[in-house]
Amino acid sequence: MKQDIKSMLFEELAAYFAETGERSFRAEQVFRWLHGGARSFAGMTDLPEKLREKLDSEFYITSPELIIKRVSRIDGTIKYLWGMRDGAAVESVAMEYSHGNTVCISSQVGCRMGCVFCASSIGGLVRDLAASEMLDQVMYSRLDSRKDLSNVVLMGIGEPLDNFDNVVRFLRLINHPLGMNIGARHISVSTCGIAEKIDKLAHCDIQFTLSASLHAPDDETRSRLMPINRDGDVDRLLDACARYFAETGRRVSYEYAMVDGVNDTLRHAGILARKLRNTGSHVNLIPLSDVPERALRGSKPEQVSAFCGYLRENGVNCTVRRSLGGDISASCGQLRRRELR
Ligand code: SAH
Repeated sequence: MKQDIKSMLFEELAAYFAETGERSFRAEQVFRWLHGGARSFAGMTDLPEKLREKLDSEFYITSPELIIKRVSRIDGTIKYLWGMRDGAAVESVAMEYSHGNTVCISSQVGCRMGCVFCASSIGGLVRDLAASEMLDQVMYSRLDSRKDLSNVVLMGIGEPLDNFDNVVRFLRLINHPLGMNIGARHISVSTCGIAEKIDKLAHCDIQFTLSASLHAPDDETRSRLMPINRDGDVDRLLDACARYFAETGRRVSYEYAMVDGVNDTLRHAGILARKLRNTGSHVNLIPLSDVPERALRGSKPEQVSAFCGYLRENGVNCTVRRSLGGDISASCGQLRRRELR
């Protein structure tokens, strides 16, 4: 059985070359090739032919196939559907923002978290993505789009903390100076809020921004939207985020998708403000994208601004996220869903 070489950490690659009696600089050569987008060992022209053949007999190099590419006529957002080795498909989105171009990638094929407004969980979890398959989404979106995608967000299909080890491995790889060298401040991980995994993450000694998908300030409303809330509760999640901040010095930001008549009233804003006041937290309001399979609608723009205004007046930082790529099914799971159908 061949191994996935691109998921190996630099230190693991170095150990492999040391054990097999190769010169130590081979690790650096191979790592650079892999993270520069090499699709085969044959193309690694500065390695002896014997070594290329040996590597090819022991390892494979993941290289996704571009199944669909859609470019938004409104804002230039590009949506990719990538095919993996086993035929699974995942989405990535390249977006242009004033603070830098961003690529949003998937962490799993499907999702088992079951949030009722999200297209990614329809059909459940198929499998976790390997670290290499997350790297590939960044690498090949960059190569194809020819955009300088300097920011990476894990907000595509899947729950990153449900694929914990591979996500942490991916973060270490993408951070590596010999690889893509994307700095901690340019990476965000979004989670539906698995409290014990947030604690585990706080002790991993890798830096990036963590966002928690809160979507409701009270258990009754949150459990209606997010089954994960049934294992814990809102306060447990907020406490885990506060501990994360205390441990890492990095504040968690909160995502809040505005669902018409469900979580968007001033009563909800009041509870939220009471819980987040004086914590320095930031709330990002997201107008819900309609998912045809789900009978939920996004809040009206007036409601979104009233909610945001209330939070600001009551001491909570709040912004409203701009929606991009509305004409190309750019949101979570929408394109994969359409193709499966
Ligand atoms: N599983 C992770 C990351 C993936 S989703 C998480 O839950 O955070 C990225 C963000 O988009 C999450 O905040 C998610 O709740 C939100 N989202 C999912 N479906 C949406 C929809 N139809 N409209 C608006 N936001 C949505």
